[in-house]
Amino acid sequence: MTLDRIRAQFPELQETVYGKPLVYLDSAATSMRPVSVIEKWTEMSTRMNANIHRAVHHISGLATAEFENARAAVAQFIGAADASEIVFTSGATAAANLLAFSFGEACVREGDEILIYEAEHHSNIVPWQMMAARKGASVKVIPVADETGAFDLAALESLISERTRIVCVSHISNVLGVINPVKEIVKVAHLKGVPVAVDGAQGVVHCEVNVAETDADFYFFSGHKLYAAPGTGVLYAKKKWLEDLPPYMGGGEMIDTVKWSGTTYARVPQKFEAGTQNIAGVPTLVPAIEMARSLRDPEIRRNEDAVKAFVMDALTANPLVHLYGRPAAGIGLAGKASVFSFTVDGAHHEDMALILNKMGVAVRSGQMCAEPLMDRFGVTGMVRASFAPFNTMGEAEYFIEALDRAVKMLR
Ligand code: PMP
Repeated sequence: MTLDRIRAQFPELQETVYGKPLVYLDSAATSMRPVSVIEKWTEMSTRMNANIHRAVHHISGLATAEFENARAAVAQFIGAADASEIVFTSGATAAANLLAFSFGEACVREGDEILIYEAEHHSNIVPWQMMAARKGASVKVIPVADETGAFDLAALESLISERTRIVCVSHISNVLGVINPVKEIVKVAHLKGVPVAVDGAQGVVHCEVNVAETDADFYFFSGHKLYAAPGTGVLYAKKKWLEDLPPYMGGGEMIDTVKWSGTTYARVPQKFEAGTQNIAGVPTLVPAIEMARSLRDPEIRRNEDAVKAFVMDALTANPLVHLYGRPAAGIGLAGKASVFSFTVDGAHHEDMALILNKMGVAVRSGQMCAEPLMDRFGVTGMVRASFAPFNTMGEAEYFIEALDRAVKMLR
């Protein structure tokens, strides 16, 4: 069975919590790591621990090749035209900060507008707010229409003005789990001459990303949610943007020449990679991508879809549970990743998560770094169960039973 073979590669699945098997339903926060990633990480630290790009010596060459190999693998994985369109960062947050700063410096003036989706993670809100404050620009919000979480293209279109400089939207909200129509969003924005930045932190895990096809100007994500080492991240940008935007951080490796009279910068993408990079972590993106590809196996997909349908049905059937991100009938489950955020009438999200933890089930609770979305729905927090493609039906059933028990205890 492919599912068993895949599961055997994730050592953490063997963990127990309070004597019960760990049921890890917090993959949207960070994924488990397969042995192949752990081994590559260790190999980089034990055999190739050298700084990259700098030295002529043997192990530096090996480490540089591993690092650049990861860049090529990422480019191919997301359909980028060229590996030089891939900038490594320490994560999605770092990528968003880089982008907001550099884009702001080059393209945003007083009175301009930044359009941001209401369901965004704080990391795709706050860097833009900081830049807008610096530049005297304002942030405008594309509202979440209702609890289905369906993206409102008409609202986007009506909000774009001649002062709009960029549209910032997630591929998949880490709360709603709904797959946003990135290609259509880009089309609407581009028709009005506005570039689009896509937060792909969840999207790259659950969807086949093709930046060339969607035509997004920017797409960023974290390695640690995609089975790779923490402290790794990617900012994809069309080459033209990388060439036109100024660097974010100054330092070693991002320069061409440094004189007291002034500094010139390296070519892209090095212009955006100042200082020592995550030399042990970035190469783990190669086995991580291999894992992501093997999770597209038809048997795994069938398992994932069956688990998703089961959890969706169970949560919607429970009159006490309020689920956010329920794709409309016409779209169905194909429009949603296995990310389920909900509240329970009469039970606090934190208490729910604590009780579930005692039963071995790891879920997230709280605002999920999306306070404006919590405000939109008038709640102080939610419980989130986020599944990996290799979570089993048995785990899903156990989660639903545990949830029922937790609800009974709290009400
Ligand atoms: N965007 C989304 C949609 C996310 O889910 C997350 C992580 N929860 C982030 C951005 C930030 O990622 P990181 O903390 O890895 O930088």
